[in-house]
Amino acid sequence: MQKTVVCPGSFDPVTLGHLDIIRRTASIFDKVIVVVMTNYRKKNLNYFTAEERADFIRRCTVDLPNVTVDFSDGLLADYVKKVGACAIVKGLRAVSDFEDEFQQALTNKSLAPEVETVFITTSSEYMFLSSSAVKQVCELGGDISKFVSPQIREDIVSRIHARVQSEKQHGESK
Ligand code: ADP
Repeated sequence: MQKTVVCPGSFDPVTLGHLDIIRRTASIFDKVIVVVMTNYRKKNLNYFTAEERADFIRRCTVDLPNVTVDFSDGLLADYVKKVGACAIVKGLRAVSDFEDEFQQALTNKSLAPEVETVFITTSSEYMFLSSSAVKQVCELGGDISKFVSPQIREDIVSRIHARVQSEKQHGESK
């Protein structure tokens, strides 16, 4: 039987750390659905729109035929049941990820007992990599080429720089 799994996240934007987890997941399971979570509470906290985030992931995974990208604005447990996935796969960085991930895994287990949460340990080079670090470095003019895939780097940089510029102009005109 084909094993489908779900890799959920905000991916704002997708980093090499996320892609490492997605690639490794795709090498273990038959079908991987990367789900861009569009929680309405977090909507304004995200830098990129859900469509942009999904487009970045698609462009970085074109060589992985068993990976697809989808959206969900509801309960992850419901989404996983709807698509018939057997597991939720999460990447685990340092100790700081653990408590929150552990709590989410137990909550999802109680909502969907048939679904497991599987953790894949980050590769050491991505241990401290996060989407927020990418945004911070880029906003301050730093080089993000070690953090994001070359296919999407220019788009991320121009988007972030345009926003910084517009915020500066807006601030100056006040
Ligand atoms: P968050 O939960 O902080 O919004 P994301 O949604 O961006 O994080 O990430 C989705 C998943 O990818 C989470 O399981 C997160 O722990 C994992 N992840 C994020 N960055 C890395 C990384 N550098 N290495 C491994 N896993 C990561």
